[in-house]
Amino acid sequence: MGIISICQPDTEKSCGACCGLYNWEDYSRETVSEILHSRTDLFQHYFSRREVDKLALYQTEVKNRPHPPKMYDDIFNCEFLGFVDQNRRRVGCLLHPMVNDGYDYRDYAFYGKELCFGHECPSNTYLNTEEKFLVTHVLGDWYLYGLVVTDIDLVKDYYKKIRTHLGGPLKPEILKDPQLTVIARDFFSLKENWKFRKKGRFGKYAFSYGEYRLAKMDYEGLGTKESKYHNILLSLGSSFETGGDLLEAEEILERHIWRFVERYRNIDPLWYRLR
Ligand code: SF4
Ligand code: SF4
Repeated sequence: MGIISICQPDTEKSCGACCGLYNWEDYSRETVSEILHSRTDLFQHYFSRREVDKLALYQTEVKNRPHPPKMYDDIFNCEFLGFVDQNRRRVGCLLHPMVNDGYDYRDYAFYGKELCFGHECPSNTYLNTEEKFLVTHVLGDWYLYGLVVTDIDLVKDYYKKIRTHLGGPLKPEILKDPQLTVIARDFFSLKENWKFRKKGRFGKYAFSYGEYRLAKMDYEGLGTKESKYHNILLSLGSSFETGGDLLEAEEILERHIWRFVERYRNIDPLWYRLR
């Protein structure tokens, strides 16, 4: 499988989470897309001739434009995050040398070239090669991709549960099956459309008035014990009113996982040899 870059894995998608991509109270696809498109347009307007004195004008105009409230005050939302390809499928740094004929303009931004260059989020370290392959292979759009690749618990627990049912690691050549790709993508899409997600949650973090804390699940109040899907439920930003809701959520996750396992076994008749 080789080394997998999770920041800019291919021409179809990329991640920009560490530059503040989702750090808005409303981090819906529509809102975040709108911000990226308008900043990319504005940047192209000011910087098409690469005149560095225009960067300050760009920054002032971004600052003066209306934008939604931030989710967490202490995370910097960099105004130089935008779309870096013509088709606007990849999110990235508009000052990066790769998109500026080799010139690096990141020193004009808040963190500066050195910090931006040296930054690696925990997913780079904690996701193993198989998990990185799964995520980079099955996801095809920047919005969902960035949400998922930075959610270590979600990726690890999903992979672990499937691996447990199969008795060993997933084979990359089997993961290329188009149906399996759709099944895994459907699961990860829960990150975007989970019916039990509570407002003010970003994965396992709860945000309020610009501050955050780790969210908890009140199993005692629901009259039940900790769910075997605890980490996944937290990653999806879940909150439950009743034990029945929790049960429904667990059944949904169970179906997603078995859908994957059954398809995998169908296309790899030797799956049991992994044991
Ligand atoms: S959040 Fe992590 S994966 Fe995403 S761009 Fe930053 S370092 Fe890369
Ligand atoms: S200047 Fe740094 S923080 Fe801003 S978008 Fe580029 S890499 Fe991200």
